[in-house]
Amino acid sequence: MAEFHYNVDADGVATITWDVPGRSMNVMSLAGFRELDAHIDTALADDAVKGVVITSGKKDFAGGMDLNVIARMRDEAGDDPAKGLFEGVMGMHAVLRKIERAGMDDKNKGGKPIAAALPGTALGIGLELPLACHRIFAADNPRARIGLPEIMVGIFPGGGGTTRLVRKLGAMGAAPFLLEGKLSDPKKAKAAGIIDEVVEDPVAAAKAWVLSEPKIVKPWDEKGYKMPGGAPYHPAGFMTFVGASAMVNGKTKGVYPAAKALLSAVYEGALVPFDAAIRIEARWFTHVLMNPSSSAMIRSLFINKEALEKGAVRPADVPDQKVAKLGILGAGMMGAGIALVAAQAGIEVVLIDQQQEAADKGRAYTESYMDKGIKRGKATEAKKDEVLGRITATTDYAALSGADLVIEAVFEDPGVKAEVTQKLQAAVGENCIIATNTSTLPITDLAKAADRPADYIGIHFFSPVEKMMLVEIIKGRETDDRAVAKALDFVRQIRKTPIVVNDARFFYANRCIIPYINEGIRMVAEGVTPALVENAAKLVGMPLGPLQLVDETSIDLGVKIAKATKAAMGDAYPDGAVDEVLFWMADQGRLGRKAKAGFYAYDEAGKRTGLWDGLAAHYPAAEDQPDLSEVQHRLLCAQVLEAVRALEEGVLMDIREGDVGAILGWGFAPWSGGPFSWLDMIGAAKAVALCDDLAARHGERFTAPGLLREMAERGETFYGRFGPAAQAA
Ligand code: NAD
Repeated sequence: MAEFHYNVDADGVATITWDVPGRSMNVMSLAGFRELDAHIDTALADDAVKGVVITSGKKDFAGGMDLNVIARMRDEAGDDPAKGLFEGVMGMHAVLRKIERAGMDDKNKGGKPIAAALPGTALGIGLELPLACHRIFAADNPRARIGLPEIMVGIFPGGGGTTRLVRKLGAMGAAPFLLEGKLSDPKKAKAAGIIDEVVEDPVAAAKAWVLSEPKIVKPWDEKGYKMPGGAPYHPAGFMTFVGASAMVNGKTKGVYPAAKALLSAVYEGALVPFDAAIRIEARWFTHVLMNPSSSAMIRSLFINKEALEKGAVRPADVPDQKVAKLGILGAGMMGAGIALVAAQAGIEVVLIDQQQEAADKGRAYTESYMDKGIKRGKATEAKKDEVLGRITATTDYAALSGADLVIEAVFEDPGVKAEVTQKLQAAVGENCIIATNTSTLPITDLAKAADRPADYIGIHFFSPVEKMMLVEIIKGRETDDRAVAKALDFVRQIRKTPIVVNDARFFYANRCIIPYINEGIRMVAEGVTPALVENAAKLVGMPLGPLQLVDETSIDLGVKIAKATKAAMGDAYPDGAVDEVLFWMADQGRLGRKAKAGFYAYDEAGKRTGLWDGLAAHYPAAEDQPDLSEVQHRLLCAQVLEAVRALEEGVLMDIREGDVGAILGWGFAPWSGGPFSWLDMIGAAKAVALCDDLAARHGERFTAPGLLREMAERGETFYGRFGPAAQAA
């Protein structure tokens, strides 16, 4: 079935309408590109056609390239994948360049105007195609998102977007859109110079424009073109390029190959004519596509994240469990955040606390969040009233009547949780699913307070709720499929990404974060300088070093968790050396950022001013400091081995969830695609050798799990053995 439709009207305007069958959003496929190419040929060859408008048959223009196609292109490129990819990319460029030149001769004579008319969102190739056109008209649609988000999934705009945007806006102007993947609504995109006009009816405006005999030569195809802001050897341009290089390395710590490749494409492309610049862009794009980091990032952050959001692990035979009325018990930090995201998603919310004042305070969180949105032009008074109107703050359990899901987020105390669960059960109906937001308590134990343990489940949010995209759903021993489906359908309503795991100490995310923090603290106790620990973490792509992370989550929480874990594990408890540091810090009153004193020092306003020097006095630096890579391996392996154990023990049921959950839940080195992708990248054999070495020198916690050893012996990869294709076979 056709993806692009072609029609010529009585005025001689050919309209090419992009409308991929069976999808709500257009995405570009190889077949689509071939169709587009043929329609452009037809229009350029037909004397009756005066100009062309490219638009969409859907409410949006396009969501981008189908990244599955890129993954497949690389996988199927045979013995010489780089050559196959490069030629494939150059094939796309040829079509786009044909649109841009539109039949003009070498002297820029002739040609037909081609305009893009965007009804809504235009992302990735969905903007690169318009950028190749001669004028871009967008509907005045504030919900539309316009931009080039490729960098977010580990690639860069490789359909000419990099070269064209830099030539249009200059390197400085294009930087936020290319390097940060910044998206804009049509008005802001026009103000930035990305698109040309925001109008009521973009197709009509585009048609009128192509009939007006406009000038169509792109500035970069004219003699004497100068790049806005200056090319690299222009004094101003020089400053920009030097600064950009430093800035990108500072932000990415050099671990994202796509950011470096993008900069190289921009810099080298700026020194040569347009067609050579496009070839350079294609070579760097191929280079990035060939990097295992980019395929791992695409797989985890795009393909698998989307699969999880669309219900890849949802029990198939349970009918829709969308939530209409949500009860929340406990209007503290977490309860207030959950109320906000649920109300924003259109769900009626009853927010309960012990005192009316506390419940009101929880509701006020949404109010101040919406107020901030209004100040930043992201929300309106009407929207605020609508969202706030959905939240009832009360102490009266009777208000829960009719709720189909209740999430308990009271104190982390089994007794309090049991009491609340008993009380709320009396107020809700038989069909209501009850969930707990506990971060540490076993769901199966908490479920004992429930009359119907099959309807009891863990829905673990991360803080701050409105920012953190992961929700960890935990099945208790008796939790049934309807409860799982309910939790998944709720997470889908609030547009977050779910993973479903089995019940075990700390579930999945916290189970992996705690050893990361502990390994950092353990090194401090050994005399590794705190700066080396923190920088090693950041240079391997962790957003926060372990010491900063424990400052953020608070040291007293660390102490509490350590004590509880020790009580549960008895003699087997392995982290005494960590506790010594942690308890000493707590004794010093250095409880973390909230106390403005922790592993870091803080100013009055709570801003970090550097590592606390008192630490060095108590734990003097050892004379021999380890290599950077040694520290990095310890920090990474501490997390990764725990993820493997979680899989081995059946806590994790799907490695896609392990990878996506790690990146979204605690920021595990996103360039790696997640712990399992990282292990696949280095190979099980090398991972085992690394473990053996670390275990011999640092202790049993680094002993390679049996599963990893077995995979090393058999030469297996995690995605080869546990990936969706292997599971389906
Ligand atoms: P919080 O102390 O900010 O809020 C708890 C709220 O529960 C308070 O407002 C309190 O008044 C209320 N409450 C206590 N007993 C109650 C009762 N009997 N009836 C009604 N309300 C009652 O705590 P929080 O940080 O929001 O954590 C809540 C839960 O979420 C805990 O189980 C915690 O482990 C979990 N959690 C916290 C985080 C985090 O980062 N803070 C992250 C994930 C999960």
